[in-house]
Amino acid sequence: MIVMKFGGTSVESAEAIARVCEIVRARLDQQPVVVVSAMGKTTNRLLAMARQAAAGHRDEALRECEELHRFHRAEALPLPKPEERALLEKFLDEHFRELAELLRGLAILGELTPRSLDAVASYGERLSSQIVAAALRGRGVAAEAVDSRRLIVTDRRFTQAAPLFPETNARLRRELLPLVRERVPVLGGFIGATEDGITTTLGRGGSDFTASIVGAALDAREIQIWTDVDGMLTADPNLVEGARRVKTISFAEAAELAYFGAKVLHPATVLPAVEKNIPVLILNSRRPQVPGTRIVAESVACRNPVKSIACKRGITVMDVHSTRMLMAYGFLHRIFEVFDECETAVDLLATSEVSVSLTIDNTERLDEIAARLRQFAEVGIEHRQAIVCLVGDNIRYTPGIAARTFGALAGINVRMISQGASLRNLSFVVAEDDAPRAVRALHEEFFREVDPEVFE
Ligand code: ADP
Ligand code: ASP
Ligand code: MG
Repeated sequence: MIVMKFGGTSVESAEAIARVCEIVRARLDQQPVVVVSAMGKTTNRLLAMARQAAAGHRDEALRECEELHRFHRAEALPLPKPEERALLEKFLDEHFRELAELLRGLAILGELTPRSLDAVASYGERLSSQIVAAALRGRGVAAEAVDSRRLIVTDRRFTQAAPLFPETNARLRRELLPLVRERVPVLGGFIGATEDGITTTLGRGGSDFTASIVGAALDAREIQIWTDVDGMLTADPNLVEGARRVKTISFAEAAELAYFGAKVLHPATVLPAVEKNIPVLILNSRRPQVPGTRIVAESVACRNPVKSIACKRGITVMDVHSTRMLMAYGFLHRIFEVFDECETAVDLLATSEVSVSLTIDNTERLDEIAARLRQFAEVGIEHRQAIVCLVGDNIRYTPGIAARTFGALAGINVRMISQGASLRNLSFVVAEDDAPRAVRALHEEFFREVDPEVFE
């Protein structure tokens, strides 16, 4: 059995879904379980509608809801068997009616909780899973949509929910193992529900995570992430024109790239796969003949020290400074206690004797954090920063990487440096506006020549 996950662009139109159906059909002998994202841009549009409604712009929100309804009808209705078309039409109508109700409710309340955001966001995958299942049947493939909210059981951290693995695994096995022998199950990624059935989501980009949760639970032979690029590339193709495909990469490298901004993979994706040692493949649904990127447990021998460069924008740097803390212990503890209690993750960290610089990407509770830190330290805050991160298992064994890195960055101000934690990355912070230039310069430095065994 294999898990095949198709991202938003891979199901963005009738034509794209037809391509997906052919890709699945060609692999029926491998017993695929299909996981789909919402149709391209749908999640963004749903979240925008919810915000509009809650901000009192009810009519705009409802108009946008109608527009999204039209879009789904136009792309979805040509796909099913003629005798199933009316059923799918009814399904879409009912769901958009329900969504409009929800938006009206938000407009009356004038308030948007994480719980209602998840309720609205969930429509994207609830619709796309039904549409893709109907499209598969329309092409003669026995397929059945399965509501992921019955299978993926999560905690109550709305918009960022974490799966409760024992219960989730049990349900996935119980429901899907018998089904997959007869039909192709089609699940919506990204969504789940609490034990008492309230809809949750796993965080933006979470369909990749759903695929690996499902793959690990079912002991799949492979987890395939089908997207709109040829695989994991040596840099974000939006930043670097000549980015190359990485043929094979280790779980550890892929996890770090994902964590530091390579959007092609959700950072949590590799965890379930690592536990069961299931290879993850990244493939292009527009060019299914390309072999993509294979993510595997072992480190891959490679003549280039750097495998890929990731970049995460929208970072905030905080400098926490206290001369009173000179030579005192407990300073770091007090700082981290604040971040811990404010449930805010710190990404990079650099310390000197009396000051600590750190980065965060979630600024929701920044004011509270700053106020609490100011009780014992001076705090400087800089927004619009970016982390640039070089990743490669060989970085630790190769002397001179730092010299090459900072040589290539001549003229760009580096705000903070961190190498250490994993030894397979070198990360630093630059102003957001400098990030594209920094990534291009580094790509030129480290990928001028590439090991043909590892890169294409
Ligand atoms: P999907 O909708 O299929 O989940 P995403 O948009 O989430 O796709 O991720 C794919 C995108 O990730 C690519 O189109 C590309 O712009 C971006 N990306 C960023 N960094 C990388 C990288 N190192 N390799 C490949 N793609 C990357
Ligand atoms: N549709 C969700 C999002 O846009 C999940 C995903 O596509 O992975 O974030
Ligand atoms: Mg994605």
